[in-house]
Amino acid sequence: MAQPTRFDLTQKDIPTQWYNILADMPEPMPPPLHPGTKQPVSLQDMLAIFPENLVMQEMCPERYVTIPEEVRNIYALWRPTPLLRAVRLEQALQTPAHIYYKYEGVSPAGSHKPNTAIPQAYYNKLAGTTRLATETGAGQWGSSLALACRLFGLECRVYMVKVSFHQKPYRKMMMQTWGASVYPSPSDQTEYGRKVHKADPDCPGSLGIAISEAIEDTVHNPGTKYSLGSVLNHVCMHQTIIGQECQQQLAMAGEQPDVVIGCVGGGSNFAGIAFPYVREKITDKKKTRIVAVEPSSCASLTTGQLRYDFGDTEGLTPLMMMYTLGHDFMPPKIHAGGLRYHGMAPTVSHLYKLGLIEAVAYHQLKVFESAVTFARTEGIVPAPESSHAIAATIDEAVKARESGEKKVILFNLSGHGMMDMTSYDAYFSGHLSNA
Ligand SMILES: *Cc1c(COP(=O)(O)O)cnc(C)c1O
Repeated sequence: MAQPTRFDLTQKDIPTQWYNILADMPEPMPPPLHPGTKQPVSLQDMLAIFPENLVMQEMCPERYVTIPEEVRNIYALWRPTPLLRAVRLEQALQTPAHIYYKYEGVSPAGSHKPNTAIPQAYYNKLAGTTRLATETGAGQWGSSLALACRLFGLECRVYMVKVSFHQKPYRKMMMQTWGASVYPSPSDQTEYGRKVHKADPDCPGSLGIAISEAIEDTVHNPGTKYSLGSVLNHVCMHQTIIGQECQQQLAMAGEQPDVVIGCVGGGSNFAGIAFPYVREKITDKKKTRIVAVEPSSCASLTTGQLRYDFGDTEGLTPLMMMYTLGHDFMPPKIHAGGLRYHGMAPTVSHLYKLGLIEAVAYHQLKVFESAVTFARTEGIVPAPESSHAIAATIDEAVKARESGEKKVILFNLSGHGMMDMTSYDAYFSGHLSNA
């Protein structure tokens, strides 16, 4: 048989621990600050919206955290996820580089997001929470949390950005299938939503407004906690099962990556594939290049500032030290993919500041062109977000062709694009621009 192109693990190989990069940071990270007092936030502050066990995890100094058996058993519904060598893409690009991709689109929700939704629901259940509130943009996070809440018997309330609620109904239907209640934001369910609606009845909504609604809902409903799908330390940590599986799978292939690539919105899927490799750089002095790929229209690492900023538009969340475009930044409407968050995970921001990771930005036409190249060679229709990583991978592979370098490239295919076909349609009909 020809060279193997797929590297499969079995259920027993699902990692037993998450990797916590805080333990290996060469410099400590600046703490989150209370929005009012500007002092480091206390445990007490955080308990208003998060359960204690997750707050402890957010500040945890341990290098490895054991994954509870109940969580691992649910992970086994779709994990370990496949690692594939993209031989047809390599051939099409005529590159001597070896391209590997980790496919997270095999989860029930179609992306990496259930990797954190499941443990978040688990820890909330353990802490006595009965209901979770959250926001969602296009619906990937909302659907992942809806699934997780269903599996642990929690109620789930999702505030979905209004324009997506009406334009992208399928993920809303998925959430309803899993039993969540979904409201277009701004909604009539919260004071803030009603206020925004009154000021502008045609307001299309934004992630920032939806976060503010979810937090207000949390604070006013006993038994309710808030849940976030990216950015926070514990969320990034939950995703590190991705990179740990890759380490096992690339060992099966007898390879070590020279370049590791992931797209970045809030930073969680990138953290998931990258942090175990950042650890090798810090502790084993490996020379791996680690590249975060962002959209040019919302490029927090490459064009933003490193400073304290809010996670939401209203200014309700703690101030976090991160690369940010400003919490009131509005990405252009024409942008088809996700990755619209104004800030970047503090952990990812810190590593970028320290020079342990690189960042590049791509315009969306190049991103969709790369997505189509990938679909026409490897078959999988990638999520527009993930396609940013594909664009950077293709550029690395073309550089390798020009230099004759036999490098090994690993990228995270964070989700499939089967629910994003209207974005592909917009691309094919020439309605997308680089603006
Ligand atoms: C949500 C999402 C992203 C962006 O979020 P991160 O926290 O940066 O990972 C990327 N890819 C897919 C498929 C997503 O659903």
